[in-house]
Amino acid sequence: MQRFVVSLLLTVLSLSLYAKEQTRQILRLPDIPGVEILMCDFHMHTVFSDGTVWPTVRVGEAWQDGLHALAITDHIEYLPHKEDVKGDFNRSFEIAQNSAKALNLTLIRGAEITRSMPPGHLNAIFIKDANALQTEDWRDAVKAANDQDGFVFWNHPGWTGQQKDGKARWYQEHTDLLDSNWVHGIEVVNNDEYYPEVHQWCLDHHLTMIGNSDVHNPIAMSYDPVLGEHRPMTWVIAAENSPQALKQALLDGRTIVYWQDTLIGKEEFLRPLFNRCVSLSSSELNFTESSTILLQIQNPSDLQFTLKAENPPPGISYAESIDVPADRITLFQIRWDKKTPLPDLLQLDFVASNLWIAPGKGLPITFQFMTK
Ligand SMILES: [Zn+2]
Ligand SMILES: [Zn+2]
Repeated sequence: MQRFVVSLLLTVLSLSLYAKEQTRQILRLPDIPGVEILMCDFHMHTVFSDGTVWPTVRVGEAWQDGLHALAITDHIEYLPHKEDVKGDFNRSFEIAQNSAKALNLTLIRGAEITRSMPPGHLNAIFIKDANALQTEDWRDAVKAANDQDGFVFWNHPGWTGQQKDGKARWYQEHTDLLDSNWVHGIEVVNNDEYYPEVHQWCLDHHLTMIGNSDVHNPIAMSYDPVLGEHRPMTWVIAAENSPQALKQALLDGRTIVYWQDTLIGKEEFLRPLFNRCVSLSSSELNFTESSTILLQIQNPSDLQFTLKAENPPPGISYAESIDVPADRITLFQIRWDKKTPLPDLLQLDFVASNLWIAPGKGLPITFQFMTK
């Protein structure tokens, strides 16, 4: 116990040596009753495989980026630094553990099973012993992860290192994995790549949508927050902020992938999020004074939305596309031609084009107004 306290103190001290000016990003989202949105990155590397940073640096970066949880997933089969960096497959997790505790982050033990296609690369997280994943046959590695109650997902299926045209392909091996219930999710997004085929597979096979950085170098070399850039994240819609609730939500497929300016996920998760971010200044349109009405679209969140108009009703006109920036109120002008009679209940249809509920399909949004 004493040893643990001393090592925790040393961790806090070593953090504080450089932490004086460190800050954590806060991404403001609306409160959704009964759930916590946990921001996670489940795929990253350290010097213990082919990454270039020490494990504690990954924790510091995750804290700065506003994450709640991270998994360090060093390769099992690819260890280019092994002559210089000794340690077994659990070592990167063990080294990072105290830093995560000190910063109140959930650190998940993980590893990347790194095989040729098929089946390609698979991450196993929430495992208990990464060393057991070092096997001759890839099936034994995936079985070992499942025997440990791990959550397994298929990484970057369209990675050009394994698919020259960048197109993800489903093989018999993946059907076998699915039939055995040995794979639970797929990366729809890896780093700067989005795989539309994978997005559809997740919907068809009830696999959890995952988005990760797969970062190898310091994260700041890839994403500049000053330019508004951020690493891809998996937002897990959990009952509470605990490792158990996080894992359960992953198994239940309760995720949203946050990639560039886009949110990718099931309609059932994206709709309540949008509805709690965006509201209109009025639900009435009274054209008695003027044929033009200015409404205000409020968005106090840190998310931005793009709304594309769909089939405006007869006699009514407004912008074809409305940008709803983060933390702003946006004017929304609606015109009536005064000739076309209006229904009592006027419905304006849009598509939120940066909220993807299926490949190429944005979230349909309807604003309803009383016209009397
Ligand atoms: Zn990989
Ligand atoms: Zn990787």
